[in-house]
Amino acid sequence: MPNPLKPEKSVVTTCAYCGVGCGFKAETRGGKIVRMIPWKEGKANHGHSCIKGRFAYDYYNAPDRVRTPMIRASINDPWTQVSWEEAFSHAAKELKRIQAKYGVKSVGAVSSSRCTNEEIFLVQKFARAVLGNNNIDNCARICHSPTQFGLTNTIGWGAASQHFDSILQADVIMVVGANPTEGHPVFGSLMKRRIRQGAKLIVIDPRRTETVKSAHCAADIHLAIRPGTNVAMLDSIAHVIVREKLYNEAFVRARCEWNEFENWMGLVGSDRYAPEVVGPMAGVDPEDIRAAARLYAGGPNSAIYYGLGVTEHSQGSTGVMCLGNLGLSCGMLGREGVGVNPLRGQGNVQGGSCLGSWPHVFSGYRFVTDDATRQSFEAEWGVSLDAEPGLRLPNMLDAAVAGSFKGMYVMGEDPVQSDPNQHHVIAAMKNMECVVLHDLFLNETSKYAHVFFPGSSSLEKDGTFTNAERRVSRVRKVVEPLAGYEDWEITVKFMNAMGYQTSYSSAGEVLDEIARLSPAYRGMSFALIDRIGSAQWPCDENAPEGTEVLHRVKFPRANGLGAFMLTEYVPTAERTSDQYPLLLTTGRILTQYNVGTQTRRTANSMWHPEDVLEINADDAAPRGVKDRDWVRISSRFGQIELRAALSSRVNPGVVYTTFHHAKSKANAVTSDLSDWATNCPEYKVTAVDVVRISAPTVAGADEGAKPGVAAPAKELEPAE
Ligand code: SF4
Repeated sequence: MPNPLKPEKSVVTTCAYCGVGCGFKAETRGGKIVRMIPWKEGKANHGHSCIKGRFAYDYYNAPDRVRTPMIRASINDPWTQVSWEEAFSHAAKELKRIQAKYGVKSVGAVSSSRCTNEEIFLVQKFARAVLGNNNIDNCARICHSPTQFGLTNTIGWGAASQHFDSILQADVIMVVGANPTEGHPVFGSLMKRRIRQGAKLIVIDPRRTETVKSAHCAADIHLAIRPGTNVAMLDSIAHVIVREKLYNEAFVRARCEWNEFENWMGLVGSDRYAPEVVGPMAGVDPEDIRAAARLYAGGPNSAIYYGLGVTEHSQGSTGVMCLGNLGLSCGMLGREGVGVNPLRGQGNVQGGSCLGSWPHVFSGYRFVTDDATRQSFEAEWGVSLDAEPGLRLPNMLDAAVAGSFKGMYVMGEDPVQSDPNQHHVIAAMKNMECVVLHDLFLNETSKYAHVFFPGSSSLEKDGTFTNAERRVSRVRKVVEPLAGYEDWEITVKFMNAMGYQTSYSSAGEVLDEIARLSPAYRGMSFALIDRIGSAQWPCDENAPEGTEVLHRVKFPRANGLGAFMLTEYVPTAERTSDQYPLLLTTGRILTQYNVGTQTRRTANSMWHPEDVLEINADDAAPRGVKDRDWVRISSRFGQIELRAALSSRVNPGVVYTTFHHAKSKANAVTSDLSDWATNCPEYKVTAVDVVRISAPTVAGADEGAKPGVAAPAKELEPAE
């Protein structure tokens, strides 16, 4: 008798959660997904997975998924369900009306790292070719934009220099501002495997994360810095390398600009970066700084992996440049086992960066001001393009508050929940005359939207993702799109409704266009990826099946040399005071993903039903706060209410929370400070105070929070 539970079909696709980009075999029965099996041939995961990709897929079929387009004249009106044609026509009419009244540059677009490369590319094409301006940004603005800036300026490409498996040849692993065992679990397991084989581990992080100590792994050196002192700490490590002459002179002479190296030595070698000066300021033993520097420089193979704990600072780009400088000075680039590697948070942040979803560059990081580049896009797209860089998302929001920016197409993003200074974002949204939101669910931003396009999840469409190691993998349609169209089709139809005629017979044709216009993707195609499984860019005639390790011979800069950037430490303006004596920093937990839009709609919620505030007993006791008490967290920008979790993971003076639940509103307290170069918000440092309260005063704040059920600081072991 046939097994009624046996899957009928399976499709190989890529997990859309984190930047590891695990391959999965999605099995279906009766047109519904019944199981996700980690794909053994997946080159990013080799058959491993974590609890998110394996089990948190049900969100696609959640009862509150929007399946019909909707419009409304005002944000105070109820939504009206309409046909797709009516939604496209209404949105197009509104954006065109706004442009006619307020000017071509009064509107813009935002794309998301949850979307495929093809969709991200089409949304920036929508802004440039259809709206006629460069007002296009993506959510990497608020996470890894400093990576692009910092690495481009030092080693030439804003991307990981290695493939994940390269870590198996590292002797020393330095993790800075990242917690891979929770944020990138499959890579975290690979890292632990290497540490069990004998590699040394240095962790620079304010918190004793699971990466610092767990059953399978312990850091040899943990520099538990005060939030906001990254740059001083990295300069101090460089100080030891310079003063003790631990640098690789032969590498620097052969591969770098020597005069810039000398300038850099002059800066970091100064007395103000001595461990005895930086250590007390950062809350770290100076001898530990010296030990970390000697360990890293000694290698022989030392690899750096870093995350948002580096980038989301007012000196985020400077912190990234510090890491580029360290790699160059010690010759830790250009071979297996070394490198400087951003651990991208979302599944396609790297793709979001590569595919031109920025106001100043086309795909392949080429400037809109460059005539030859612009002409190549004009020839392909059949329109003339604006040579003036457009507005970044924070600038679009500022302009909306000021009254000059009036409309926006937002695909797969929730700026009201994700972006800093929520009150400012809401004021901007309320000032716009047409916000077109393209998403799966009604979210915080939908409260201020006028048109809603119901999108398709990654399980309902074709395309590609580029993971944290530059690996381009196929996203394949597992089930039919619930609202009728794949996301790339929706954007194309919106373009057509706006009067720009273009068509593609498949997402593969969009990738073909990307390949024609983007040098690093020149060899990419569905056919290639279907044949070899996945390929890391650059993929071109010189590397027809992609490139695992970058910078082997030269750096992709005009003269081929690595550049040392001057990285003076400038303390953040966000300071503690008598009124706000603690520093709040934020992070993620294994079972949940970012703001939880997907994972909170799955059974994974049982592991993390609420965000809590980790606080050291030394800070809790004088405030009368006990474990699981309600507390109010106040900053100069707002207040939130959470339960407290007494924890020795944070030092006295530092408190920590996750941001997976909308009701927690963590961004209501974060400052509006941002990275000096890229506007990436300073999410990781906010001066706060914490007081005990008897019960939450915000409606819904305790929703889902069941005393005795929540496991505040509990980490689950990822599958290895
Ligand atoms: S490690 Fe990342 S990509 Fe892999 S299954 Fe987990 S969330 Fe998905």
